[in-house]
Amino acid sequence: MSEAIRNRHGSQPLRVVIVGGGTAGWMSAAGISRQLRTEDYSVTLIESDDIGTVGVGEATLPHIKIFNDMLGIDEAQFMRETRATFKLGIQFRDWDRPGDCYIHPFGAFGEPWGGVEFQHHFFRALRAGIQHPSLQDYSYAVVAARNDAFEFPNEDRKSVRSTYAYAYHFDAGLYASYLRSWAIERGVRRIEGRVCDVSRDPTTGDLVEVTLQSGERIAGDLFIDCSGFRSLLLGGILGVAWQDWTHWLPCDRALAVPCNRVGALTPYTRATARQAGWTWRIPLQHRTGNGYVFSSQFIKDSDAQSALLAVLDGAAQGEPRLLRFSPGRRALAWSGNCVAIGLASGFLEPLESTSIYLIQAAVTDLVKLMPKPGSGTDPRLADEFNRLNEMQYERIRDFLVLHYAANRRVGEPLWDYVRTMPLPDSLVHKLQLYRSRAALPNYQYGLFARDSWLSVLYGQGIVPEGYDRLADAFTISKLAERLTELRNRIQTNVDAMSAHGAFIADYCRAAEAAGSEEAAA
Ligand SMILES: Cc1cc2nc3c(=O)[nH]c(=O)nc-3n(C[C@H](O)[C@H](O)[C@H](O)COP(=O)(O)OP(=O)(O)OC[C@H]3O[C@@H](n4cnc5c(N)ncnc54)[C@H](O)[C@@H]3O)c2cc1C
Repeated sequence: MSEAIRNRHGSQPLRVVIVGGGTAGWMSAAGISRQLRTEDYSVTLIESDDIGTVGVGEATLPHIKIFNDMLGIDEAQFMRETRATFKLGIQFRDWDRPGDCYIHPFGAFGEPWGGVEFQHHFFRALRAGIQHPSLQDYSYAVVAARNDAFEFPNEDRKSVRSTYAYAYHFDAGLYASYLRSWAIERGVRRIEGRVCDVSRDPTTGDLVEVTLQSGERIAGDLFIDCSGFRSLLLGGILGVAWQDWTHWLPCDRALAVPCNRVGALTPYTRATARQAGWTWRIPLQHRTGNGYVFSSQFIKDSDAQSALLAVLDGAAQGEPRLLRFSPGRRALAWSGNCVAIGLASGFLEPLESTSIYLIQAAVTDLVKLMPKPGSGTDPRLADEFNRLNEMQYERIRDFLVLHYAANRRVGEPLWDYVRTMPLPDSLVHKLQLYRSRAALPNYQYGLFARDSWLSVLYGQGIVPEGYDRLADAFTISKLAERLTELRNRIQTNVDAMSAHGAFIADYCRAAEAAGSEEAAA
């Protein structure tokens, strides 16, 4: 290598080779090329058009805005190009019992009063029999979602309009293409081809190069496995063990089909519990995404397909596509000089739209822990990455398991099984704390803290036996007055918001959205 392309450390750039060009591959390529100097890190991405991508993954969490902002992406342009809509949370229907409905919002429930978290005041009010004790009324995001309303959150922290965040529903294929163009323009090298061989260093076991079907060989210092469920490098070549979580999350298949758009654009994802799993509904500008995530132990594929087609809002756009998966994760996401990101590192069903978030978290952690050019591999970096990755997966797993375990759908075999199965110890601990004291998990790192747990625990019928006695400092009449004032303040503000559909039309309407709504709407 000539001196001219040596970096400021006097060493050659670290050669990062990404195998796979789905959402994980292109988010990794974009994140690395944006945050690290190109003279220190060269990025090559290999993808196979023949194999293609998983082609699903349309609902996101608010963190994705941080990722897009970090890349400097123009939001309105990105939303037009990916036919995106806004998302304020997820509506869960029929999870506790048929007929029930609650929203898990991207935002807070209430406000802490007198230094005491809101849920303690709420449960005190509930016990005292104060009128209007509907938890959902005290979340701005829930009330806005119920009204099909959307506006950007207010930056004034004192305003009730600042108490929520938002995410997007988008076309996953278009998002990966968008990032691909973005990354290639910034120097990422893309190679189309199928990896058919991988060579390793006989002494260290590290990966050295991959060979494509065309015979081309691509050498690297760090390999990122974004090859999807195949886990070509981490699982296949390095043989890192799979931790299977089917006993806690029995769904192992999904059928996915888009349909024509009908009616108002809802600013939320819908997840409806069904006989052997649940169906999703994701509104995009030009169509609605749908799917049935189910357990093959409890329903036949053909029956699941009929059940899915029976609940579409509009005419199906083609035949449902069947996807098979196992819930779980690789025991290590980083082994030697190989890091797996995306489906290659693990999979948790899309009930809380967490997979793209897990990709983002892994890219962020990898950038922070990236080996320095010329420094060789340092196992401590891998250990820290694996620690963080494990924590993320286990916390999300517990949260997903909660949705299943807390049900009263007695007499339905899947639901009877998940209600009575032994739970992970970490989940049992959280449930005990909540049941006895209304205490909720709160942590800085990772997903799903206080408000998320509260929405699902209470939404699925679990009422704690006690609450923080500091909440008793308020008189009951003062508490009732404050609750009424907050509820009215939220409703009045939401009533003044734009309709979500009108907001989209004004801000980021995609050309394809025009005329996409069914005439019958
Ligand atoms: C039913 C379902 C619904 C989902 N819904 C959501 C959701 O709503 N929200 C969310 O956040 N996530 C969701 N996900 C997860 C989401 O789809 C994935 O996390 C995301 O698409 C990332 O996938 P990936 O890039 O890891 O893999 P893939 O999209 O499968 O990409 C793999 C890449 O590797 C390449 N490749 C494989 N083998 C080779 C080879 N030998 N040589 C060269 N290239 C190769 C392929 O060509 C492709 O480019 C869902 C997943 C499923 C299964």
